[in-house]
Amino acid sequence: APIIKCDHVSKRYPNGFLALENVTVDLYPGEIHALLGENGAGKSTLMNILYGVHEPTGGGLLLNGREVRHTRPGDAIANGIGMVHQHFKLVMPFTVAENLALVAKGAARARLRRHADVRAFMAEFGIELDPGAVLGDLPLALQQRVEILKALVNESRILLLDEPSTILAPSEVGALYDTLRRIRDRGTAVAVVTHNVDEVLANADRYTVLRRGRTVGTGHIAGADADA
Ligand code: ADP
Ligand code: ADP
Repeated sequence: APIIKCDHVSKRYPNGFLALENVTVDLYPGEIHALLGENGAGKSTLMNILYGVHEPTGGGLLLNGREVRHTRPGDAIANGIGMVHQHFKLVMPFTVAENLALVAKGAARARLRRHADVRAFMAEFGIELDPGAVLGDLPLALQQRVEILKALVNESRILLLDEPSTILAPSEVGALYDTLRRIRDRGTAVAVVTHNVDEVLANADRYTVLRRGRTVGTGHIAGADADA
C-alpha cells in the first residue's frame, strides 16, 4: 500500500492559474518514484503540496490511508516527510554537525550530540563526511548530501527531492542515486523530480509524467538497478 497518496489533487494559484488538475500519485515505501515533466508541468507545485508549502485547492493527501492536511512545512515534518530543496537551506559558515543539529528535534537532537554519533548516523546512509567540516568549504555534491541528511534527521519515512541532479556534473549523478538507493532500501519512500528520462530509466522504480498540470503517464520500471 502507498505510504502517501496525492488523491485527485488540484491546485489553482491565487492569480487564477491552474497548475495541477486532478493529479493522483502514490508513493510506496522502499521505492524511488520519479516525477518527470517539462518546465512548468507542475512538479514543484506537487512537491510543495506534499510538504505543506502550498495547500491543494481540490483533492487531498492520504497518509497510510488517512486524510491529512499539511498547511505548514512543520506539519509534513511531523508526519515523517523530509524535503531536499533545489536551493539549499544550509548554513554555510557552520559545520556539518551544526547544520544537522539546527534541524534535529527532540530525540534526534539528543542522539547527534557528539561527532561520533553524527558519523554513525551518516554511516546508516552510506555517507562519509567529516562532521567538523564547514559547509561552505565542501563541494556542491557533498553539500547536497548534507541537505539530504537534514531531510532525514527527524526519522523521515518519505523523502522528497526537487531536481537534485541539476546542480551535479553528469559523473556525480550515479553517486547521488547510490545514496538514494541506500535510503530506499531502508524502507523510505523517495520521490525525485527530474526532467531527465535517462536518469529515470537507470534509477527509478516507478515514474509519473506530468504535462501542463495533468498526469499523462505512470508506470513501473522493471529491474531498475539490476545491471547497475
Ligand atoms: P515545474 O516544477 O514542473 O517546473 P511548477 O510547479 O514550478 O512546475 O509550475 C507549474 C506552473 O505553475 C508554471 O506555469 C508556473 O509558472 C506556475 N506557478 C508556479 N507557482 C506559481 C504561483 N505562485 N502563482 C502562479 N503561478 C505559479
Ligand atoms: P521552481 O524552480 O521550484 O519551479 P520557480 O523558479 O519556477 O521555482 O519559481 C520560484 C517561485 O516563484 C516559487 O515560489 C513559485 O511558486 C513562484 N512562481 C513561479 N511561477 C510563478 C508565476 N507565474 N506567478 C507567480 N509566482 C510564480
